[in-house]
Amino acid sequence: FTQLCFSCQFSDSAGYVGFANLPNQVHRKSVKKGFEFTLMVVGESGLGKSTLINSLFLTDLYPERYIPGAAEKIERTVQIEASTVEIEERGVKLRLTVVDTPGYGDAINSQDCFKTIIQYIDNQFERYLHDESGLNRRHIIDNRVHCCFYFISPFGHGLKPLDVEFMKALHGKVNIVPVIAKADTLTLKERERLKRRVSLTLSHQNAVAHIIIPFAVIGSNQLIEVKGKKIRGRLYPWGVVEVENPEHNDFLKLRTMLVTHMQDLQEVTQDLHYENFRSERLKRTGK
Ligand code: GDP
Repeated sequence: FTQLCFSCQFSDSAGYVGFANLPNQVHRKSVKKGFEFTLMVVGESGLGKSTLINSLFLTDLYPERYIPGAAEKIERTVQIEASTVEIEERGVKLRLTVVDTPGYGDAINSQDCFKTIIQYIDNQFERYLHDESGLNRRHIIDNRVHCCFYFISPFGHGLKPLDVEFMKALHGKVNIVPVIAKADTLTLKERERLKRRVSLTLSHQNAVAHIIIPFAVIGSNQLIEVKGKKIRGRLYPWGVVEVENPEHNDFLKLRTMLVTHMQDLQEVTQDLHYENFRSERLKRTGK
């Protein structure tokens, strides 16, 4: 995979992600080393994944992405692209890796989509297991996937069979957060109905360990002037939909959830998903 690396710094006035505001205890423990966090994004192409990631972390993670045409898409299987950025906020460092899965849902055989993604997650566990049993245990880089945003299309009537299959296959390996994409295309009523349907399906299918209501979000790469202030938003003939306005969508809720639960997501990854992987793996090799 390609690995991009660049640093960016934000001044307080330019807006910030907010991880520097983590509770003090967590904060002190992690200041020296910095946080290491890996977020995976999954969902059909065109649902606004890259735009949302750029909006969340105020950085252009995919400046030169090539967008394949339809014929090419059918040929392609899921590719995994991991990009790492180092963000620093008030002296606190975050080494963020975003794992994107372009091509998801494009392949004719959906099993192929899962295989590549499961393989990637397992490979990171395997690498960690290997490093953990090595000599240089103190300096392991943790590339395990701590959280997966699963993008749901706003245009359907709920989860598609592929969505459900994915979540059933993956919920034992990674923390899944369902995200309804392009929430600005839904009226309030439609949004509530879709959220209800998604949570209902997930609870019936036992597809996510802890059922959470999906976040209906919007993203934008554009700054628009509203009442003399530059804000991130989308301009329509009838007005501006603002990314960071809680009345317009759940973007802020999602960001707050991610930032305040970063450590929880890491702990569940370590104590539950990694432990499961490890015990299965050791059983298989008979150790
Ligand atoms: P990806 O393929 O999932 O990474 O999608 P992109 O981020 O490249 O976005 C695909 C298209 O959807 C672009 O034209 C974006 O401007 C548009 N888009 C992104 N986010 C939103 C959103 O929240 N609402 C709407 N209406 N369009 C969006």
